[in-house]
Amino acid sequence: MAKIYYDGDANLDVLKGKRIAIIGYGSQGHAHAQNLRDSGLDVVVADKKGTRNWDKAVEDGFEVKEVAEAVKESEVIMVLVPDNIQPAVFYESINDNLKEGDMLMFAHGFNIHYNQIIPPKFVDVTMVAPKGPGHIVRRMFTEGIGVPALVAVYQDYSGKALDKALAYAKGIGATKAGVIETTFKEETETDLFGEQVDLCGGVAEMIKASFDVLVEAGYQPEIAYFEVLHELKLIVDLIYEGGIYAMWYSVSDTAKYGGMTRGKRIITEQTREEMRKILKEIQTGEFAREWILENQANRPVFNKLLEMEKNHPIEKVGKELRKMMPWIKGIDVE
Ligand code: NDP
Ligand code: MG
Ligand code: MG
Repeated sequence: MAKIYYDGDANLDVLKGKRIAIIGYGSQGHAHAQNLRDSGLDVVVADKKGTRNWDKAVEDGFEVKEVAEAVKESEVIMVLVPDNIQPAVFYESINDNLKEGDMLMFAHGFNIHYNQIIPPKFVDVTMVAPKGPGHIVRRMFTEGIGVPALVAVYQDYSGKALDKALAYAKGIGATKAGVIETTFKEETETDLFGEQVDLCGGVAEMIKASFDVLVEAGYQPEIAYFEVLHELKLIVDLIYEGGIYAMWYSVSDTAKYGGMTRGKRIITEQTREEMRKILKEIQTGEFAREWILENQANRPVFNKLLEMEKNHPIEKVGKELRKMMPWIKGIDVE
């Protein structure tokens, strides 16, 4: 069973008197900075000068500095700029300003695990990764609840890395909910696997394929949209709130029987075998290499695929149908 830490396992005093630099005032950054400050800790924020989030941090009452300055005067440095930008920010502004005994922190393990950032030996390297977006991390803190998080130690120079990371987790409210111990390897590899196979890749392909099959067979796109996309939310909400069995419990017996007998013809042994292959590509670093090269080449494949997603027929019909449902808070990405 996983090791889980709660409030009683963490001591905020470990970080008292240590300045914490929050690098990047975005989704995670604004929540971590505000929660840590409200926990009585000393926070300085860094972001890109002249951007909206820099101004927002100033408005929120923080001392805001350039990354290098913030790192120089801090002992804990949490890197919360986008993952693909982290290596550049690290080598331009963080690496040369780290001091012996500092703690370098992340909320996702990709760059450390795949050696895109190689930190000096004389710092602690840890992760505190909330299992929720920043606005929920902030809101739950203000409501005295907290969002669960993962904690991991990659490098323990001081011998106190875990205690310091747990104190940080307590500072953002996570130990109220529970903080699960993991490793940079486990967090990174399972995160990539989940988004590729299930959450983003698998779900998107399943929706498009089932939509295409219905439309090819002559059914109206509007009807197909409701059946294969719109109603997915009802099902996911049930699974999210009660687990898969609660979903089966809530749908009709016809849906139960049809789903339980047909589902395995969609996710076949061959599909599982492909999942194992995808996992291997993640574990060997093959996926990471491919993605890093794709970025270096200015994302030709990425841009082409994204354009195809944007132009899939389900997007057009969805846009019209969502107008009929004003209670759905639309997201316009044009
Ligand atoms: P965001 O994109 O929301 O925020 C990133 C922030 O960094 C923005 O304010 C951005 O400014 C700023 N920034 C960009 N470039 C620079 C730069 N060169 N120097 C200084 N600041 C810069 O990121 P997230 O909060 O989503 O992600 C941060 C980390 O948290 C990632 O490692 C992610 O994997 C992890 N994470 C995210 C979760 C989430 O739900 N969002 C959940 C758990 C972990 P601007 O917008 O002006 O460019
Ligand atoms: Mg994830
Ligand atoms: Mg991810």
